[in-house]
Amino acid sequence: IVGVLALCRIGFERECSSELERWFGERGADGYVKFEKLGGQVIWFGQAKQFPKTSELIFARQVVKLISKTPVYFDNKDRITPILSALEGQSYSAIYFDNTDTNDGNSMADLFHRLQKPLLSAAGKANILNREASQRAHLVFIDGTAAWLGISEPGETLKWPMGIPRLKMPQDAPSRSTLKLAEAFAYFMDKEEQTEWLREGLTAVDLGACPGGWTYQLVKHGLQVIAIDNGAMNEKIMETGQVEHIKADGFVYRPPRPVHWLVCDMVEKPARVAQLMADWLADGDAQRAMFNLKLPMKTRLDEVEYCREIIEERLKQAGKKIERLQFRQLYHDREEVTVYLIVK
Ligand code: SAM
Repeated sequence: IVGVLALCRIGFERECSSELERWFGERGADGYVKFEKLGGQVIWFGQAKQFPKTSELIFARQVVKLISKTPVYFDNKDRITPILSALEGQSYSAIYFDNTDTNDGNSMADLFHRLQKPLLSAAGKANILNREASQRAHLVFIDGTAAWLGISEPGETLKWPMGIPRLKMPQDAPSRSTLKLAEAFAYFMDKEEQTEWLREGLTAVDLGACPGGWTYQLVKHGLQVIAIDNGAMNEKIMETGQVEHIKADGFVYRPPRPVHWLVCDMVEKPARVAQLMADWLADGDAQRAMFNLKLPMKTRLDEVEYCREIIEERLKQAGKKIERLQFRQLYHDREEVTVYLIVK
């Protein structure tokens, strides 16, 4: 292994590279990062004993271990032979195709479609594909003429190609933001946790709820929701009878009784939102929170770390134990990260 390749949101290469440097630095591994501005990917080259799982990082969508310092090059006429010879000598349980999320990347879909079947069939014949193998191969395409060859073990990468879940926009949802909370549930919670914590009989407060995309997700799972916002809620969602809309300031409102969930998508300074979330949980008004932090243009990674400190400090003061505190820039997040916080 000569390093790792991480895919990230376009424009977040700097954050992603700082995170990788920090991760390896903390483990005493020497290396250096390489990325192009707006390239949607970062490479860390170096010697290390341990490698990060994708889920340990905030700004990386997918992380694979690199086995060569150079990509595999090929031409339009024959891509399969050079790829097979790069894969030869090892067996893999699967061969995954990935690419960066750039426009060029998007035009890759066509190529993948044409290449996948013949490549997998040739790899099967050459004994490169083998169900018994534990490692998987990742071809991360730079363009139609080159791809990085990476490997991973199960659990190290996200189950979605390029770390991007394919979520359909529900026809009747009040806003596209609904996909952010849908993705957050899918990313942070396994099926068991979803069954236990997203069901009828549970209650939630949604701060900054209008027009109701996040409330929609909670309602769909059967929860009763108190929606706090001075704006207008989608009428259809109000007709479900599961929503109480209160026109109030989200920084002032508190529920008469504790609720199971606190969610928040208010556009505000991240530190202010982090403080508010920590206050609610410190006071016992909720036990779990899922919220977005809108990041400033610069110092985005520092801002996230600062918010982490605010939350940890406040809950420590209150004598509450943090069961989970996870930050993640989801695919549907733009200049923001999503946070999942649970206290005991
Ligand atoms: N999550 C919503 C959805 O899926 O439809 C979208 C929320 S939108 C990004 C932010 C909302 O926060 C706006 O509707 C705005 O009125 C509300 N907001 C901002 N500051 C607020 C405050 N101090 N109190 C209550 N609502 C606030």
